[in-house]
Amino acid sequence: MAENENNVEDVVVAGTGPAGLTAALYSARANLRPLVFEGMEPGGQLTTTTDVENFPGFPEGIMGPELMEKMKTQVQRFGARLEMDEIERVDFSEWPYKYWTSMGKEGKTKTLIVATGASARYLGLENELRLRGYGVSACATCDGFFFRDQKVVVIGGGDSASEEATFLTRFASEVHLFVRRDTMRASKIMARRAQDNEKITIHWNTEMTDVLGEKEVEGVAWKNNATGEEGTLDVTGVFLAIGHTPNSKAVVEWLDHDDAGYLVTTPGRTETNIPGVFAAGDVQDKIYRQAVTAAGSGCAAALEAERWIEDKEDGE
Ligand code: NDP
Repeated sequence: MAENENNVEDVVVAGTGPAGLTAALYSARANLRPLVFEGMEPGGQLTTTTDVENFPGFPEGIMGPELMEKMKTQVQRFGARLEMDEIERVDFSEWPYKYWTSMGKEGKTKTLIVATGASARYLGLENELRLRGYGVSACATCDGFFFRDQKVVVIGGGDSASEEATFLTRFASEVHLFVRRDTMRASKIMARRAQDNEKITIHWNTEMTDVLGEKEVEGVAWKNNATGEEGTLDVTGVFLAIGHTPNSKAVVEWLDHDDAGYLVTTPGRTETNIPGVFAAGDVQDKIYRQAVTAAGSGCAAALEAERWIEDKEDGE
């Protein structure tokens, strides 16, 4: 399939995390010259982490931003066109589909791969954001390993908080869990798992009010919202587990999604309810949320998009 004469792209990819860049890599190698919008956080969530030790192929580990830079270089080598812009609005009422970007560009495409990811929620405290990657993390699976025999705190009371706190007990000497109410939102079985774990101390009605430390986390300040008591806790790791927000705003009015805004795809596939529109990575995955699973679904989306175009053109 050659470059298009009528300014209709074969494949547009929204997002440049592992899902978007892998989709771009496969589409580019299929000679579909994908147009890739980098989004507001080029490289995605991995650019906010430091060492990545669970991406296969890097036995010594690799820094998150470096991994994403390598992926970007790899897709450009095969002719993917990357633009520092993001899709703001789409119209799927007619095919080819129309899109508009935040920098005022308007275009048409035969297929769209939505790989806009999800953003971990942070409390928004100044020192919490400053020390991200230096003890503050939103991913225990990614960073837990670095806290062997250290004390850490997890913020949140949902399934993620429970799962992350439990996971961290494999490494940390003590895990503290700050729950802002007197009960956990997590499912009973997950909450019980955290509550029954001897290494986890649950602090009910407790909110983190500051993160302490100059270059790295040295502790946190807290407040009990029931008693008004305040204090500090010496920890070297702070794990936020207060939910993620899928970045689906631009397409959500057209695509099936759950209450939180995660796009819904056909089970085991990346196709959405709109033919020719595919979703990959964290924007449609609230279970695994790993770089390698995102990359895998990006690959699947590109293969499905390629086949979809072939079938469409065969049928015409
Ligand atoms: P949830 O939205 O379920 O829970 C968020 C938690 O963070 C709540 O306890 C909430 O408190 C707390 N929180 C929110 N904002 C703040 C704040 N500003 N300060 C302090 N605490 C705050 O998110 P999860 O990521 O836990 O789960 C998302 C979805 O993914 C759920 O459907 C969950 O079931 C699913 N999931 C499933 C897993 C599994 O089955 N293995 C593992 C992980 C997630 P409050 O309750 O007071 O609102």
